[in-house]
Amino acid sequence: MQRIDSIDRLLNYREGCSGSVGLVPTMGALHAGHLSLVDAAKDVNDNVVVSIFVNPTQFDKDSDLAHYPNTLAADLEQLASVGVDAVFLPDFAMMYPDNFQYQVTETSLSQLYCGAHRPGHFDGVLSVVMKLFNLVKPDQAYFGEKDYQQLNLIKGMVEAFFLDIQIVSCPIIRETDGLAMSSRNLRLTAIERKIAPQLYAILMSDSSLSDKKQQLISIGFDVDYLEVMDGRLLAAASLGDIRLIDNVPYPSVGVN
Ligand code: AMP
Repeated sequence: MQRIDSIDRLLNYREGCSGSVGLVPTMGALHAGHLSLVDAAKDVNDNVVVSIFVNPTQFDKDSDLAHYPNTLAADLEQLASVGVDAVFLPDFAMMYPDNFQYQVTETSLSQLYCGAHRPGHFDGVLSVVMKLFNLVKPDQAYFGEKDYQQLNLIKGMVEAFFLDIQIVSCPIIRETDGLAMSSRNLRLTAIERKIAPQLYAILMSDSSLSDKKQQLISIGFDVDYLEVMDGRLLAAASLGDIRLIDNVPYPSVGVN
C-alpha cells in the first residue's frame, strides 16, 4: 500500500494507475462500516484509494474537531491488510491553498436536518469531496447510507456539476446491539454506550414520531431532529457531548 502525503505524489500515483479507480473518503478512526465501503470498492475497481482527512471546515464545534478520534497507525494496518492500493493523507494547507475562500454550497437540502443544526457543515463536506474528486479523479466513489443527507447532497453535486463519477451508496453497518458504527462511538462513556443502541431501537419501534422523540428524551438523549426524507426516518440526537445520527426505512416496522 502506498502512503501518499503530498498532492504531487497523489497526481503521480493517479497517472500511473491503469484500469478503474475507486475512492473511499474517510476521516479515519476506521471501523467495519468504513471497511465495507473499501470491500465494495475492491470488488469492482482495479485500484482503490482511501483518503483519511479530518476536514476542519465541516466541523461547527471546535471541541468536536479537537476530540475527533485519531487511530492512524491502526487505520493504516487495517487498510494494508484488506489490500488497499493507496492511502491519501493530506493536511489542511494542502487541501485549502485558498484558505477556504472558495466553497461548494448547496442552498436547499443542505439547510435542513443536520444542516439546520450544524451551520456550514455541508459547505465543508461538499467542498472537500469536490477537491478529493478533482485530485483522485475516481471512476467510482463510495459513501455510506449512515450519512443519508450527505449521500444525497453528494449525488446532487455530481449531477449539478456534470462530474463523470459514479456514486455508490453502501448500507449501514451496525454493532450487534444495533448501534450504527461511528468513529464518534469511541468517545461514549460506558453508561452512554449502553443507552446509545436505543436510538436505533426506538427509530424502528412501532410508535408515532412524537412518541419516539419523547422516548429518546426520557432516556437521556438531546434530540436535534426526527424527520422523514424520501421514505427514510432520519434522526440526530446527542448523549452528553456525543452527537449520533442514524436512519431507517420509514414506515419501517420489521425491516432494515
Ligand atoms: P467518516 O469517516 O465518518 O466521514 O465516514 C466515511 C464514510 O464512511 C462515509 O461515507 C460514511 O457514510 C461511511 N460510514 C461511516 N459509518 C458507517 C457505517 N456504520 N456503515 C456504513 N458506512 C459508514
